[in-house]
Formats: sequence, C-alpha cells, structure tokens
Amino acid sequence: MTESLTPRSVLEKYWGYTSFRELQQEIIESVLRGEDTLGLLPTGGGKSLTFQIPAMILPGLTLVVTPLISLMKDQVDNLRSRDIRACMIHSGLSRGEQKLAMDRCRYGHAKMLYVSPEKLQSKGFVDELGQMDVSLIVVDEAHCISQWGYDFRPSYLRISELRHRFPQSRVMALTASATPEVSADIMDRLEFRGRRMFVRSFARDNISYIVRFSDHKQEMLLRVLRNTSGSAIVYVRSRRRTREIAELLVAESISAEFYHAGLSAEEKNERQNRWKSGQTRVMVATNAFGMGIDKPDVRTVVHVDLPSSLEEYYQEAGRAGRDGCAAYAVVIASPADKGTLTRRLNEAFPDKDVIRRVYELVCNFLEVAVGSGYGLMEEFDFSLFCDRFRINPRVARSALGLLTSAGYIEYVDEISTRSRLMVIMDKHELYSLNVSESADRVFQMILRSYTGLFSDYVNISESLLSARLQMSPKQVYEALLELSRCHAVSYVPQKTSPYVIFTTSRELPKHVMLPRSVYEDMRQRMERRIEAMKRFVFNGGSCRVASMLRYFGESDAGDCGRCDVCRGRREAASATANARQDLMKEIVRIAGQPGRTTVDYIASQLSVSSESLLPLIRELMDRGQVRVDGFVVTAAERQG
Ligand code: ADP
Repeated sequence: MTESLTPRSVLEKYWGYTSFRELQQEIIESVLRGEDTLGLLPTGGGKSLTFQIPAMILPGLTLVVTPLISLMKDQVDNLRSRDIRACMIHSGLSRGEQKLAMDRCRYGHAKMLYVSPEKLQSKGFVDELGQMDVSLIVVDEAHCISQWGYDFRPSYLRISELRHRFPQSRVMALTASATPEVSADIMDRLEFRGRRMFVRSFARDNISYIVRFSDHKQEMLLRVLRNTSGSAIVYVRSRRRTREIAELLVAESISAEFYHAGLSAEEKNERQNRWKSGQTRVMVATNAFGMGIDKPDVRTVVHVDLPSSLEEYYQEAGRAGRDGCAAYAVVIASPADKGTLTRRLNEAFPDKDVIRRVYELVCNFLEVAVGSGYGLMEEFDFSLFCDRFRINPRVARSALGLLTSAGYIEYVDEISTRSRLMVIMDKHELYSLNVSESADRVFQMILRSYTGLFSDYVNISESLLSARLQMSPKQVYEALLELSRCHAVSYVPQKTSPYVIFTTSRELPKHVMLPRSVYEDMRQRMERRIEAMKRFVFNGGSCRVASMLRYFGESDAGDCGRCDVCRGRREAASATANARQDLMKEIVRIAGQPGRTTVDYIASQLSVSSESLLPLIRELMDRGQVRVDGFVVTAAERQG
C-alpha cells in the first residue's frame, strides 16, 4: 500500500461513498493509531467498512474471525468486485480451496483473510497463520466470546491466543448487540490494551415498535400484512411453521415464500433473490434468515413467535427500515407465549445425565473409542443421529451446545455451501481432453456460462446446467465427476451438513463434567434474558423503545412517541371527556354480549386501537363495571 492512502481516499476510491456514517471514522482512526478498539454499531450501521478500510491501509494482512460462514463468500466476492484482494477459510471448503487461500495470503496476494472460529481449534492452521504478517485481528460478532451473551461460542476464546502470536497487531471487536456487562467481558477476554469503545445509540427513529395481543395469531398476522405495504419478513421458530404460514399467506393472496436452514443452498439463494428483488413480498423464516442481507426497504418485520432474548429481537426487528424510511416491527403475542418461553428454558438445559448420554451416543455414532478422537473433525448427520437413537432434536441440539460450552466437542451447526468448480488443467492440455460426449457437453456449457474459472473456484448450479443442456441432474453430476477424475477441473459438490470436532479425546460418560459456569450459571443468564423479553412484551406500562434501550445500557432514553404504548397514551389523552364516556358505554355494552369478548374484538367493533381502550377498561374495572381475565373483558352485568 502506498503512504498516501487515507480513510477518506479509500472510501471514495473503492466504495464510491463520499462521507462516513456516524462513528465509522472515529473507529477507523483508532485502529490505525494501533489501539485495540470495540465498535458497537446497530445492524446496518456499516461495521464492515470500519475494518475493511484499515485493512487496505495497514501494511500486513487483516484476519477477520466471523461465525457467519454463509456470508463469507458474499463478502469476499463483494470485495473482489471492488478490486480488493480477500480470501476465506472455513471447514466447509475443500482442502484444495483452503490451500489456495493460504498460499494467496502467504505470498501477499490478499489483504484480508476471513476465518471461521472452529478453524482456530487446529494447531496446524494457527501455526501456518503464524508465518504471516498480520497487522489487524478483527473479531466480528464479538458478543460470541462472552459467556454472558446470548450466543457464546467457545472457539472464540482461542482468539486471545492469536493475539499472542501477533503481538504487534491490534485487535478490533465489532458487534451489534451487547449489554454493558457483555461489552466489558469482550474487552477482558480479548485482553484489550486500554478500553477504547465506540457506541452508537441503538435507537432507530424510523421504526415503530408495536405489540399486538391476540389468541388468533394467524388472523392478526393477516391484518398486519394487509394494513402495511412493501417488503416484509415474518419470523417463526420452527421450520414446519415457515411452510404452513407461507401457504396460508399465499392462500390469502399475499405473495410469500418460506426459508429455513434445512433448504439446499441453491433453494435458499433463489428464494432470497426473489424476495430481495421484490418479486416475493413476504419471507416467512426462522432466524436462519436475515443475517448479512442488506435489503434497505424492508417495511415490516413481524414476530409471530417470540425470540428468547431482546438481543435477538433487536437484531431481527432491526432489519426493517434500513433505508431510514418509516417501518414497523410488530410482535404478535398471546398469553400462552409466557409458558412457551419458560419451556424453552427447560429444553435448553436438559438433565446432566441426558447430556452425558448424548455425548456417549455421539461418540458411538462417529465410532470414536474411549481415549481417542482428539482433533477429529467429522460430518455429523444430525437427523439420522436423532432418528437412530430416538432423541428429541431440540434436546439433542441443546446437549450438543452444552457439550461444546464444556469443551468436549465443538458442534458446528449447518455449514451449507454451494457447488463450486475451478478449471485446473492447463489451457493447452484442454484441447486434447479425452472424455465422454456428455462430459464434453457439460464442460463446454460451463465454459460458456461462467467466467473466472481458470483462476478461482466459481459457484455453479447443476440445475441450471441440466436445464440448459436438457440432461438429467444425475447425468450432469456424473459428467462433473468424470471431469474431476481426469483432473480437468476441481469440483466441490454442494453440501449442507453439521460438523462435530473433538476438542478432547473421548471420555467415559461419568468423567464428563458440566461445571456450574457451563450449566447453572448459563441457565440463570438465559432465564434473565427470557425475563427481559417477557417484560418488553407484557409490561405495557412503559415505552417499548425506552425499555429496550435501558436493557442495552442507554439509561437516558426518552419515550419514542411511536410505539403502541406511546400511541395508546396519546390517543387516550386526546379523546374528549364525552367521547371517553361514550366509548366506555360502548365497551360495557359489547362486553355484556355473550361469547368471548376480547380487547381486540371490542377494539375492532369500535374501530379504534386496542391500546387506546386499555386505560378506559382499567377505569371501568376500578368502577366495578367490567371484569378482565387475560384478554377477555366481561361486563359485570351480562346479557343472556
Ligand atoms: P452492518 O455490518 O453494520 O450491519 P454493513 O457493513 O453491512 O452493516 O453496511 C450496511 C450497508 O451500508 C452496506 O450496503 C454498506 O455498503 C453501506 N455503507 C456503509 N458505510 C457507508 C457509508 N459511509 N456511506 C454509504 N453507505 C455505507
């Protein structure tokens, strides 16, 4: 890099942007001064540029540790399209691809290397990294290093070893969600020299946070989507429900598709593209959807099922309105949700004996003998495992997570990659390539359909090739294997598979320790996060935004004026005394009808919002004119 590069000149030259967003420049300058720096910017705040620009200016390599394997390829491609040399390494890549990336870094052909955390478990890999000249270590999604956070990943703890390998480098930690105690923990764990921290307020002025209560969530969802326009995401907790709800929406003439981690990489890609381009209006998804998706004009994010923490909620809701225009984040809650959240807590912490049993079964399943297995990394067919041993998948997933936290194994959920291909034969030799006719046709079609195949792995789509060639997918696959066997190409078929890595040799079950720090303490923290989530939804007394910001450590936040609580107060206050009395009479009349008269029902009959009715109902309750049980309002004197 030349001496004359400045943050601004790099921003303009490579990104074509003319100004920095709030705090970007301060973070970049702090890193360039050599200081360890923590950046806390909300989703969409522009975190990537805060390390990509220093990476371009600093002399050596920048290592970026990120757990988001599915997004690495997009980031690297995006950088390359701007003429910035970047590589990536994760366990879903073939050996050939990993070697190519390491060689590029070694020979100075890359400025940035994205690494997934589980690679740091491998001493060989870390030794190899040790030979490189690293100027900056970036820890993306830095809350994963904290046991206090909601997404702890033990392999993140290895990052501090990296910093000892490169004493001259500085460390940068970035996250979009951390409470004050998690921020402090991040800096401790990464052994920060000094406490430089930049925090942008988490307030998003264009988003209205709304909670709607209903026993009939699907009907309420339809109402919400009909009353809003533009792109939307609907979050639910199970894969099955993504499909069911998408089908319901389509049946009601609302354009929708579903998305979850179990789809093939190609399906995910296609659905995501249709939604991004606006062809599909609503994506009904699990939390597997959304990370790294930079769609600015999402107008509505609806949660039909509650997340287990405000951190997750804030991240997911924050996908609305990244363009700064008005947007809605709606939670649809029912009284049953409280019990569901408590049940999730119990599922997340099965009995210790169950966890030991799962450990034993995993070892048997992967045929690892007692005393062996250290360092082993195996693909792990999770559904087959659960089927074979008749284990509830949710319990199995929790047990695997706890065994990961306790340091026995590392369970990496769903590394899903697309098919890739690179031509490895010399161009001259290709002329004399002797393969079957179908392999030849496939090869010619690949050369016509894709570019850049001679210098790197390129994503290919077997189904596209099979459609263009009018061959069956099986024939295309076999042709690709043939081309691979004769060393014309290096072909890596797509796969979606979790991994298990043994971080210790197999122990006897009775020796598997689940200490307080891994079990009881973590359970208690999850319980606190769940309580905070419940308070946010069910405590209708204070402004939603203010209560969320308080949770993230912003104690001076005023009322937002836009959430359902603030609106309800305003509407109630502006109703004149007469209108108030009339409305109260009407409430009593409707609540006196036979059947279940819920707050929502009364509100819909009177064409007002449920929030504006609550203070009136409370007053009627005080006067003894109505009784309230959950969401059902009954007049003291009922008809019929
Ligand atoms: P985050 O990681 O914080 O969620 P990203 O780094 O993905 O956010 O940035 C979100 C979007 O904002 C990207 O499209 C990025 O190119 C854009 N962006 C970032 N910084 C700037 C800037 N200074 N000017 C204009 N656009 C920016």
